Amino acid sequence: MFAEFKEPDTICVYQDGIDKGRTLLAEEGVRQAMGEDTDLSQLLIAHELFHVCELRDPSIWTKTYSINLWKIGRFVNRSPVMVLSEIAAMAFASRLNNVNFSAYVLDAFLVFGYSPLAGSALYEEMMQGAGRKPSRPDGKQ
Ligand SMILES: [Zn+2]
Repeated sequence: MFAEFKEPDTICVYQDGIDKGRTLLAEEGVRQAMGEDTDLSQLLIAHELFHVCELRDPSIWTKTYSINLWKIGRFVNRSPVMVLSEIAAMAFASRLNNVNFSAYVLDAFLVFGYSPLAGSALYEEMMQGAGRKPSRPDGKQ
């Protein structure tokens, strides 16, 4: 949504989302929570670089892992788990950029720049999915 990898060798980062994110980062509480040196473009590029790695190495776990959808007798229908790729790409981006937060929240953060209501809802959904309580940048509930 904010960046994409176009095969075979192009990563696009969309400036509008970055600009809106930078406006949010200019707020003191947000900057403190995410770190003074947070570079949104570098995080998004790192995320897309993981997808480049996946393309270059089809044996990577995120592309080979699959689950049984159903089994009837000797017939088994297996499916890859697409979300693994996104989770791994965000973890890769966090590590590569040495940030003190999960880059996974960038989705909610950047959506917030367009729609605070939608971004907040997405953030709350992520936190609840992770078994955590959503909190404001200052740590308040
Ligand atoms: Zn992705």
